[in-house]
Amino acid sequence: TSPEKRDFIRQIVRDDLSSGKHARIKTRFPPEPNGYLHIGHAKSICLNFGLAGEFAGVCNLRFDDTNPAREDPEYVAAIQDDVRWLGFEWNELRHASDYFEAYYQAAEKLIKDGKAFVCDLSPEQIREYRGTLTEPGRNSPYRDRSVEENLDLFRRMRAGEFADASHTLRARIDMASGNINLRDPALYRIKHVEHQNTGNTWPIYPMYDFAHALGDAVEGITHSLCTLEFEDHRPLYDWCVDNVDFAAHPLLLKPLTDKGLPLEAGKPRQIEFSRLNINYTVMSKRKLMALVTEQLVDGWDDPRMPTLQGLRRRGYTPAAMRLFVERIGISKQNSLIDFSVLEGALRETLDAAAPRRMAVINPLKLVLANLPEGHEETLEFSNHPKDESFGQRRIPFARELWIDQDDFAEVPPKGFKRLIPGGEVRLRGAGIIRCDEVIKNDAGEVVELRCWLDPESRPGMEGANRKVKGTIHWVSARHGVAAEFRLYDRLFSVADPDDESEGRTYRDYLNPQSRQTAHGYVEPAAAEAEPETSFQFERTGYFVADRRDHTVAKPVFNRSVGLRDTWAT
Ligand code: ATP
Ligand code: MG
Ligand code: MG
Repeated sequence: TSPEKRDFIRQIVRDDLSSGKHARIKTRFPPEPNGYLHIGHAKSICLNFGLAGEFAGVCNLRFDDTNPAREDPEYVAAIQDDVRWLGFEWNELRHASDYFEAYYQAAEKLIKDGKAFVCDLSPEQIREYRGTLTEPGRNSPYRDRSVEENLDLFRRMRAGEFADASHTLRARIDMASGNINLRDPALYRIKHVEHQNTGNTWPIYPMYDFAHALGDAVEGITHSLCTLEFEDHRPLYDWCVDNVDFAAHPLLLKPLTDKGLPLEAGKPRQIEFSRLNINYTVMSKRKLMALVTEQLVDGWDDPRMPTLQGLRRRGYTPAAMRLFVERIGISKQNSLIDFSVLEGALRETLDAAAPRRMAVINPLKLVLANLPEGHEETLEFSNHPKDESFGQRRIPFARELWIDQDDFAEVPPKGFKRLIPGGEVRLRGAGIIRCDEVIKNDAGEVVELRCWLDPESRPGMEGANRKVKGTIHWVSARHGVAAEFRLYDRLFSVADPDDESEGRTYRDYLNPQSRQTAHGYVEPAAAEAEPETSFQFERTGYFVADRRDHTVAKPVFNRSVGLRDTWAT
């Protein structure tokens, strides 16, 4: 199928363009700046920006910053960083708070039209009057206030005359509606809280449904894409858009045009799709926040976090994220995606994109006793076995090497194909060796292997072609650079860390092995990498030079994902 036929939203967009309903589409990604973005947001970002790109439209980044108490400029900056990292650029950067004056004017218009009223019920009373799924609600005793009285009260709310929660501006819709969202929902509440963008200008703040719908309308968003839990809010969304009707009342937008904000007010259409859920992780902002503040992880960008900053630090690439999102698709079916799908997308993109290097994570000294003291040479290796365009590099080879402890066994388990006393193995790209002597310390631990390098088995020689059981990797002891390896695994050891049965919480499901540190060696060409460079360490896994801590002198590599899926369920 062609890309634009891929899902029902692309179908709608295509139809709207071919019928002439829209000459150009406009979408938006509307995060609340109350936390860092996570992998779920990546789905929404790729959808909104992706659609704009595919159909020659535009996409805005809009901060839905209508809830000042939980918002912070730190998040505003991180969110922009994340969107750009994923490879997208917004048409315009907006803040819902840019529109506060227009929202206010729109609210006065609703009052003048008899469609909104100031209610003095307390929040508890409002809840009690609202009714239930089976019981209709009851009208507020303040519902029939005169337009003049409502206007006066609302203006005094704005002037800061009233205490928090003492008054609410409510839409006047239908307390008997089968849809609870339409039972005279709140449009404005009083909140004497400083706002990260507007400071102390406003003692009242618009409610999410009102602000979100009008934000879309102000910007001329054509397709407003959101997750399924907003399906029930769509009638209210439409009510706000239709009853304010910016296009027919351009004066309402004067506060914005005065500020020089370009506008193309229209009537957006809300379309819902299923949110992304992944097992072995939590995605609620509240829980992610708690992991950080309770120091169960090392911050928002801990490589085990499902935040975009965490995934990035773990070694996830924008290409892997986009492949993942494309693979899971867009639908209205709620589903739980297996964590291995995410890991698979990373493995697949890195297999093609990551140069190969050699690294020894748990080093064991190996001496090629038949080479002269001080012997060294350089060997040519290709950087990628399947792609010549990656070129070649030279690796120093010498008499003393590091190999991985796992590649030697004094008493081999069944089927062991690596080095054993008296056995032979191929040293990757260097020749065939035989283990002649095993040297131990006083504690009986193996500390060194003395081996014989078959001089007839060097690269290019006839003797190199003879069969030996296994091939192992190595790093020259003199040339290798000491490196720290952070071996990350899934943060939770159970598929559903949100399961709260028997009084447990996600804290009880943390995987104690989710981070282990090892100290070993890498070949010089790995140490020299810039932070955030990904490699396949041969036979070991995909690693990334840590974005924050890696330096050429003190390399730090994070394990992004293993070479194959080994997670045992
Ligand atoms: P909160 O409820 O704490 O505000 P949120 O997940 O709703 O968190 P927003 O910042 O409001 O976060 O979300 C921005 C956009 O990302 C919204 O359009 C939302 O629908 C979308 N989004 C959030 N989580 C997911 C998810 N898991 N899958 C797909 N889209 C998501
Ligand atoms: Mg939200
Ligand atoms: Mg949410």
